[in-house]
Parts: sequence; structure tokens; C-alpha cells
Amino acid sequence: MIPLSSPDITKKEQQAVLKVLQTSTLSLGPKLQEFEKRIAAFAERKYAVGVSSGTAALHLIAKAMGFQKGDEVITTPFSFIASSNCILYEGAKPVFVDIDEETLNIDVSQIERKITKKTKAILAVDVFGYPAKWEEILSLAKEYNLKVIEDSAESIGAFYHGKPCGSFGDAAIYSFYPNKQMTTGEGGMVLTDDKRIADAVNSMRNQGRKVKGSQWLEHVRLGYNYRLPEIESALGIVQLQRLSSLLQKRARVADVYTRMIGQIPGVFTSPHNTQGIKRSWFVYVATLSQDYTRKQRDAVIAAMGKQGIQCSTYFQTIHLQPFYRKAFGYKPGLFPIAESVSDRTIALPFFGNITEQQMQRVVKTLKRCLEKV
Ligand SMILES: *Cc1c(COP(=O)(O)O)cnc(C)c1O
Repeated sequence: MIPLSSPDITKKEQQAVLKVLQTSTLSLGPKLQEFEKRIAAFAERKYAVGVSSGTAALHLIAKAMGFQKGDEVITTPFSFIASSNCILYEGAKPVFVDIDEETLNIDVSQIERKITKKTKAILAVDVFGYPAKWEEILSLAKEYNLKVIEDSAESIGAFYHGKPCGSFGDAAIYSFYPNKQMTTGEGGMVLTDDKRIADAVNSMRNQGRKVKGSQWLEHVRLGYNYRLPEIESALGIVQLQRLSSLLQKRARVADVYTRMIGQIPGVFTSPHNTQGIKRSWFVYVATLSQDYTRKQRDAVIAAMGKQGIQCSTYFQTIHLQPFYRKAFGYKPGLFPIAESVSDRTIALPFFGNITEQQMQRVVKTLKRCLEKV
């Protein structure tokens, strides 16, 4: 079977994890501190706070920004569900804006008309590792006095106009889930230059204890257990040290896929670097032309699966998820570009160590499956 994704773990990571296990500090220790320091430097941020997942990172940002019932946050329907759920956690309402068909990121030209008196923030996502238009988002936010949340769960190592993704919003996140460019097993990071956000997140991840000087059983605010353990942090340090090589491998795989898939009629490739944009490759997504229906796309994915090639739909739009339809009455047709793209995308097996032979098999099988549907 050729899997959809596969983490890239070496002896170095194994040794780093084993070393932690030989100590008596398994949580809130030196590895977490070191990992945070290194990530902050990498993302050109004053503060980085390690948490148990990217979702936890988003949740704590929503809390630190004080979202509540009646507030609105503008975001994209074409993303992993956590980027919208974090708004719901605090009782605020995600207000969706359709996407740009080329980059699959939020269409900034459509944001302004969705801003109301209730709007508190814009939460944009670097979808599949392709940077959103941060300069335009930041200037809109400034004009309307909105906060900006940068969901860079899929874009660690990407650059927009010379600055790293993760460096733009009032707060940003990375995720270290196993299918991301670098992993800690489970894990996430909050990035910010705002001390108040950093301190609030730091306290809330640790049961609401004071950042400094709290007694273990003193809790100054409502908190959670969203800590990032030492084992995960040690793994993350090594993955971060290897990140540029991990990203290089992924970029090479993407180049080969684009070359091979570019030859198949009716299939569009993923966008590569352009002026001022250096993307980081999270997944490789091929998009079928409008001649294909959702049903045919699903049939292609199923047929590939039968041949031992694991593919996936990336993404199902958030507003059409069953519980969003139920809660908000969303129906198909509201965000036509996101919906159309979502019906036609196929994520192909994608990881740094995939072989050229495996890729050839993927593309050959894709071609054959497309002819049959
Ligand atoms: C992966 C991901 C998350 C959530 O990260 P987890 O670590 O899995 O909780 C959030 N947003 C986006 C866009 C993601 O891809």
C-alpha cells in the first residue's frame, strides 16, 4: 500500500526521545522550553507557547482574544474543521468568505462586505502550505480594528514576501500532527508578539496557573490541560533541526508530481512558488476539471484505494459538514468556488520519502482510473 502520508523519523529522533525517558522530567521541563525558543526564532516571533495540538492552540487564542457569544469571526469554509470550530468553542460565529480558485485561500476581495459591527477578527489559513495574502489581510484588519489569527498549521517553512508564515497575525499557530511537514506525534504551538496573549495562553494550557510564582494547586483563571510533554518537545527539536531537509524532499516530490500530472488532460496541478511566495508543501492536491462530477471523483479515489494507493478528498467544505448545516442551516451553493473545488480535488500520496517508482505508479493508476469513470 502507498499511504497518503508518512512521518519522516530517524535514529536522531529516537535517541532524543529515549534520552528524555532516562530523566525524571516528563512534563514542563527543559525540552519544552528549548523547543519553544527555537520555534520562536524560526517564526521570527517574541513568544512561542507549546500546546498539545494545533486545535488546542487555536482554542486558546480564541479565549485569549476574548471571543464570546454575539461576536463574529471571518474565515474560510475551505479548511480543516478546527480552524472554524475554535470560533464555535467560545460561542462566537464563523462568518465564511469564499476562496480564490487559484490559491484555494480566502478571497480577500470578498472580506470587506462581510464585516459588521459584530466582527472581531479575521482567521485566515495558509491552505496546503500556500501563503494567504497576509499584507492585504493585515491592512484590512487595521482599517476596521480587527484582530488577525493566522492558521499556519499547514505552512511551517513557507514565506510570504520574505517573512515566514506564522509571523503575521496577532497570533498564529503551527500543528505537529503526524501528517504535517514536521511532527511531534501530537502537538501545536501558539506564536505571538503580544505578551498578554502569550501569558494568557501559557497559563490556560496549564490549568490556569500563574505563568510564574504560582503554587501547584493555585489556579487564577479557568484553565485546561493542553500541555506539550517533554517527549514530544524533544522529538520536535530534532524535526525542526531537520526541517529544511524535510521541506526540500517534499518540494522535490511536488516537482515530480507536477511534471507527471501536467501531462494528463483534465487534471490541474498544485500552484508552485511565484514572485514573493515560497510555499511549504503539506499535501499534493490534483484538481479535476469541471467535466468531472463529485461522484466520479469519489469513484476515482475508491478505485485508487482498491489498487493499494491511498488518496483522499481535501477538503470537504466546513459549512456543509452535517453539524454546521444543522446549526446554521447552510446549504450547497453559498460558497460556489469552495464547493466546486472541494468536489474535484484528490490528495495524492505525499511524503518526503516516497520513491519515484511509487509516484509513477500513482500517476499511471490515476490516469487509468480517470479513463474508466
Ligand atoms: C492540522 C490542522 C489543524 C489542527 O491541528 P491538530 O494538531 O491536528 O489539532 C488546524 N488547522 C489546519 C488548517 C490544519 O490543517
